[in-house]
Amino acid sequence: MKRLVSGIKPTGELTIGNYIGAIKQFIEYQEKYESYIFVADMHALTVHNDPKELKKRIKDIVALYLACGIDPEKTTIFIQSENMYHANLSWILECNTMMGEASRMIQYKEKSKKGDTTVGLFTYPILMAADILLYDADVVPTGIDQKQHVELARDIAERFNHKYGETFKLPEPLIDDETSKIYDLQDPTKKMSKSDDSDKGCIFLLDDVESARKKIMSAVTDSDNKIHYDKENKPGISNLLVIYSSITSLSIKEAEEKFKDKNYGEFKKAVADEVCKFLFELQEKYNEILSSSEIDAYLDKSNEKVRKIASEKVKDTFEKVGLGR
Ligand code: AMP
Repeated sequence: MKRLVSGIKPTGELTIGNYIGAIKQFIEYQEKYESYIFVADMHALTVHNDPKELKKRIKDIVALYLACGIDPEKTTIFIQSENMYHANLSWILECNTMMGEASRMIQYKEKSKKGDTTVGLFTYPILMAADILLYDADVVPTGIDQKQHVELARDIAERFNHKYGETFKLPEPLIDDETSKIYDLQDPTKKMSKSDDSDKGCIFLLDDVESARKKIMSAVTDSDNKIHYDKENKPGISNLLVIYSSITSLSIKEAEEKFKDKNYGEFKKAVADEVCKFLFELQEKYNEILSSSEIDAYLDKSNEKVRKIASEKVKDTFEKVGLGR
């Protein structure tokens, strides 16, 4: 079975976009790949986070992964910072990455425009390379914005292998489908994001059900009053159709057919009903998981497993570069 590695940064509360665009796909992939899914908490430090909130969010994400349906028997879920080999390998890789190639990262150029740039924001793609190469990942599911970073991991691995002998597997990005991208309800041309300042256009997985309903009912649409998928001309309605179809597992075509004689108010209500039902059931499972002691026992066990894999890779890498006695 090929191996898959991916993670989500705990820089904000998870959104329905994270569910549809990432977690739901992890659930499908776990049938096909030996999956390692982590909470990328070290990556969260590239921007400022309140330490107490960060700690809470880390465990929230684990509980949400499980509540959404990631099967701990099929997928190894772990917390990045609890496996110190990520940072170990990252340093070796930093010393095998050229300034020129790291400086070409578009995400860095974009994010550093906001000012207050840390060195961590510059080097995080190399930590990401370590996250991937540590486990000999074959595939890395990712949004298009992170594709360049997976390519960087490949380039670093190739250079290292050439210089020191075969050590790392070359990973492939697994780019998610455009139709699973969710846009902001207030500005449907912008991706729904957990790091946004305003949360009016964003449905969080832990939103209380009534506020989620309000956000959907006030989603920006158009004046055409016809329900069909047209991302260019009807981004708001198309976004609601994608949300509806992802939650109900109906195809976009089937959803269009179902609402062809309905008005926008009726359609929004149907979307809100489905999303609220989904959130309610999800939150019930999430609360159950968080209040049991099983989550810690599971994380201890998965931590042991990933540390074993990672320690062997780091030991080999240290040997190759000549570190230690
Ligand atoms: P991020 O929230 O940017 O750390 O992304 C974590 C994962 O969730 C990545 O795989 C993203 O592609 C996915 N993701 C985040 N926001 C959305 C969205 N609005 N629509 C679809 N996928 C998303």
